[in-house]
Amino acid sequence: MRKKRRLLTWSLSVMLFNLTLIGLMAADKPLILQELTWTDIKSYLKTNDMVIIPLGSTEQHGPHLPLGTDFYEAFGLSKMISAQTGVLVAPLTFTGYSPYHSGFPGTLSLQPETMERVIFESVEWLLKYGFRRFLFFNYHGGNNIVQTRVIHRINHQTPGIAVAIGHGSSLQSEEEDDSSMDWHAGVSETSLMLYLKPELVRLDRAEKPVMRFTPQMKELRQLAAKEPSLLLVWSSLLGVPEETGKGGASHELSSNGVWSFLDPREATAQQGEKEALEMVRQAAKFIKAWQAAKGKIADLP
Ligand SMILES: [Zn+2]
Repeated sequence: MRKKRRLLTWSLSVMLFNLTLIGLMAADKPLILQELTWTDIKSYLKTNDMVIIPLGSTEQHGPHLPLGTDFYEAFGLSKMISAQTGVLVAPLTFTGYSPYHSGFPGTLSLQPETMERVIFESVEWLLKYGFRRFLFFNYHGGNNIVQTRVIHRINHQTPGIAVAIGHGSSLQSEEEDDSSMDWHAGVSETSLMLYLKPELVRLDRAEKPVMRFTPQMKELRQLAAKEPSLLLVWSSLLGVPEETGKGGASHELSSNGVWSFLDPREATAQQGEKEALEMVRQAAKFIKAWQAAKGKIADLP
């Protein structure tokens, strides 16, 4: 009887041990270049040639969000995609192109040419080791110009293939409502940070900004009520350096650096989670489809 009980206890512990092991394996962790060893990368490259490159910025995000917001967003979402797909994440830069936010201290910016060079030279190293498919996850509009150029250079000058999978790419469904202008450090971005990095959000400091537009901007916005295509011009005037004289620098447009007609205090982690999961779902779906397509360049004739 006692023997039987001992056997039962032993079987139960083996079962529990196996379950823990399965649990650990199922808890898919993101793969991050800086956290791995060269031997890990060597084994990774035996079965995978993809790498996700997050692009963010170090720029003001109002009085309540950290300067690294765009970096944490791009990196955080890339990590979630990595956990779902097993694709490595390689952050190459913390800084982006953000000169129009420099009216608020702490903002950093690289010239587009400098940023392009840093990313392209890093990609050249990754190419040497055997990486061939580059997936850029951008979360800062100012970087679009650089992202487009780097992707073009990879596709036209190297054996690699590069695509954009982040915010603003054709992969992500855009549902932006222009009437709320919730573009920067507003409800949407604050919600995303409440989900990804709640410890860095100072919601007690959040406040609705006073938005200021030049007479030209105001006129274009009124005319756009009848001819919505004019919003193209209106939005082109926003987010340009102060030196252009167009009145579109961050500190000219907004009293506190937030660009929104909404109040960021309405942000919730639930909304952020919903937006994050949707972006991750779109990107992961694409990655799995591309992986299944056996697109390894080495396999091509
Ligand atoms: Zn941002």
